[in-house]
Amino acid sequence: MKRQARFADARAQAKGRVGLVPTMGYLHEGHLALMERARGECDTLVASLFVNPFQFGDAEDLASYPRDMERDASLAAAAGVDLLFAPSVEEMFPDDPAVQLVLPHLGDRLEGRGRPGHFAGVALAVTKLLAGLQPDLAYFGRKDAQQLAVVRRLVKDLSFPVEIVGVPLVREHDGLALSSRNVRLSDSERTAALSISRGLAAVANLAEKGEQDAAVLEDAARRPIDAEPLVDLEYAELTDAVEVTRMRKLEHTAFLGVAANVGDLRLIDNCFFVDGVPELGRRLDRVSTLYQGGP
Ligand code: AMP
Repeated sequence: MKRQARFADARAQAKGRVGLVPTMGYLHEGHLALMERARGECDTLVASLFVNPFQFGDAEDLASYPRDMERDASLAAAAGVDLLFAPSVEEMFPDDPAVQLVLPHLGDRLEGRGRPGHFAGVALAVTKLLAGLQPDLAYFGRKDAQQLAVVRRLVKDLSFPVEIVGVPLVREHDGLALSSRNVRLSDSERTAALSISRGLAAVANLAEKGEQDAAVLEDAARRPIDAEPLVDLEYAELTDAVEVTRMRKLEHTAFLGVAANVGDLRLIDNCFFVDGVPELGRRLDRVSTLYQGGP
């Protein structure tokens, strides 16, 4: 596996059909699932590693975001990545960006409400990676279902010649959605956080039995979280996966997205629905790389 920090060098080495997996690093099996999918579909697999300051509202969250370049490099190499692109902030943003990419509505609801400016930051970094690396395919996780909708729309509106591929969510063996930030949960917070995936499992169960009423499904997601004093629910909303509009009734492709605060961490999770069929994602059968060797 080669490592590059400059767009021009990375582009020069990317041959044939190029697949890009953008990440903020501190890799886990959620990221590895994107790489695995991409590996089978392209000639050059590029993984990018960049903690994008413009998508963080909170300087403290940015400063405490877990980072470990050597750990990431060995996981990426084992996953078959050909090129690890890890640009500096100066390479990504040599000047304070004069361009703003706002997605009114798509980026304002759900995550956008609690994190104003977040999706403008995401859109800027993704645009930069797509323009700079010119991949044929780019892979994004359904863990961040709203981000996936934003990226799909961005690419469509700006006519980027890239295919966006959505990949199902990966969970710990006990159901917790994998996230690099999970390493910052204490044991008691981590146990409490399981209420989020428990609620979503109840949602999937109800939907499998034919329940379509958003209020009933949202209530099922909310209930275990409300019973957990360490977890503070921000939203549980059934949302159209393309338009990011609120749904009253479960139909076509949607997700029931949840955001909750546990201590000073904000966690998101969802139950995705492909043509109305619930997809909770894949559970690992053992503890994830995040806990092997400890944070
Ligand atoms: P991040 O490093 O958190 O910005 O994530 C990079 C990419 O990995 C994004 O497309 C995420 O949606 C995806 N991702 C993160 N966690 C998971 C997960 N648990 N399952 C599937 N994809 C994930």
